[in-house]
Amino acid sequence: MTEQLGTATRPLRVAIVGAGPAGFYAAEALLKQKDLVVHIDMFNRLPTPYGLVREGVAPDHQSIKAVTRVYDKVAATPNVRYFGNVIFGRDIVHEDVKQLYDQVVYAVGAQSDRKMGITGEDLDGSFPATIFVGWYNGHPDYRDLEFNLSHERVLVVGNGNVAMDVARILATDPDDLAKTDIADHALEALRKSKVREVVMLGRRGPAQAAFTNPELKEFGELNGVDVIIDPTDIVLDEVSEASLSDDKTARRNVELMRTYAERGTTGASRRIVMKFLVSPVGVIGSGGRVAAVTMEHNDLKQAADGSLRAIGSGKYETHQCGMILRSVGYRGSPIPGVPFSDSSGTIPNVAGRVFHNRDEVLPGEYVVGWAKRGPSGIIGTNKPDSVSTVSSMLEDLAEIEGIPDEKRDLNLIEDLLRARRVDYVSYNDWQILDAHEIAAGAAQGRPRVKETRVAEMMKIIRAGRG
Ligand code: NAP
Repeated sequence: MTEQLGTATRPLRVAIVGAGPAGFYAAEALLKQKDLVVHIDMFNRLPTPYGLVREGVAPDHQSIKAVTRVYDKVAATPNVRYFGNVIFGRDIVHEDVKQLYDQVVYAVGAQSDRKMGITGEDLDGSFPATIFVGWYNGHPDYRDLEFNLSHERVLVVGNGNVAMDVARILATDPDDLAKTDIADHALEALRKSKVREVVMLGRRGPAQAAFTNPELKEFGELNGVDVIIDPTDIVLDEVSEASLSDDKTARRNVELMRTYAERGTTGASRRIVMKFLVSPVGVIGSGGRVAAVTMEHNDLKQAADGSLRAIGSGKYETHQCGMILRSVGYRGSPIPGVPFSDSSGTIPNVAGRVFHNRDEVLPGEYVVGWAKRGPSGIIGTNKPDSVSTVSSMLEDLAEIEGIPDEKRDLNLIEDLLRARRVDYVSYNDWQILDAHEIAAGAAQGRPRVKETRVAEMMKIIRAGRG
């Protein structure tokens, strides 16, 4: 009889693809199982770990990034190995992980963005907020983008926390940003920025905004920035007003917005304007670039499920602007060899077990985080989400055949990567880069100065390896 998986004689071998919060929480949940003997290998596309904590969390939200201490602890556990700079689908493929691991967890997040589906959306100057975020956070994929900020007005579509982040970064005094770990190229561009007004467009009303209280409160605390809201926008319809009684976040949001509306203009040099019940319906170009946006005013209509939907009113207005950022949600992208639902933008699953063709479960394959549930929630939301997938993994242990013993040699994956000439980055390697960035930051009174090119990162790591 074959020995049970997860024991000293037959340790469970788990591959986690993606080293963002959801991947680390899955590893942590596995390590917390008292009687489970497990070896975990984490694979990450970039040399740097932490996913959206490094590449998504705004640079002026340093305290949120302290969560990486938990991930460092996970990575320091003897049975956990980190393989950064390894591209899934190229350096290792689905078949490799199936051959070398009993269970595979996809923790690949949501790498793409949703579109608005309006004319002119692809004009130069119209971008998804996601890439603007990647750019100012020094994500190597976006570090060479150039955003033209030589105009006065940017429109940001959406009322979520990502929209808040991009609006705030565009409006913040660059001297304040200079104290953060914002990417140097972005800081330089923002120092030269001529943008004086950022207009946020919510398709529904103030009571339906998806952003949260701390982010809205921060708007009112920005140096040299007025937050402008038309007082008539804050007069709520009956259904919205009633909805506030059992929604604390919305209630506080509306209270804050009422104080901003009352405060009005103080003559600050930069402004964030919050407009509600408007939807862009067309981006107008001039010389191939964004010049203006036509928007339609909306009415709120209660749907059968009780929710309030935005319905076009047939009244339009056009606003000039030099850039439009759509912040209407992230979206998952397919990864080679793994099922993907185009409609939800996620890896189809039930309780974290990956499904194929709706009802066929793929034994030993699991998903966590945004790739599992879509792009919602804060970083901490990923912890219970990963714990729940790990419960499914543990439940399945008795049923899983597992890989043959000759594939259990821990060196096999390293041999395979070396044979393919992949210069993978270990956690010690990452710590060389981490120390380098922190030291560069200390010299400037900043938390770190980020390296933003993979080639540069690898140069520093190779030099540090000695
Ligand atoms: P989100 O919270 O889902 O917000 C998306 C926004 O886009 C909503 O206001 C939505 O309006 C709007 N929208 C969607 N489709 C639209 C369309 N076609 N036209 C106009 N507006 C449209 O998404 P997110 O801002 O990308 O954030 C993703 C997750 O990360 C969220 O859970 C967020 O809280 C989290 N996050 C947290 C922080 C933080 O904690 N500081 C920072 C960044 C992100 P409707 O409500 O009308 O659909």
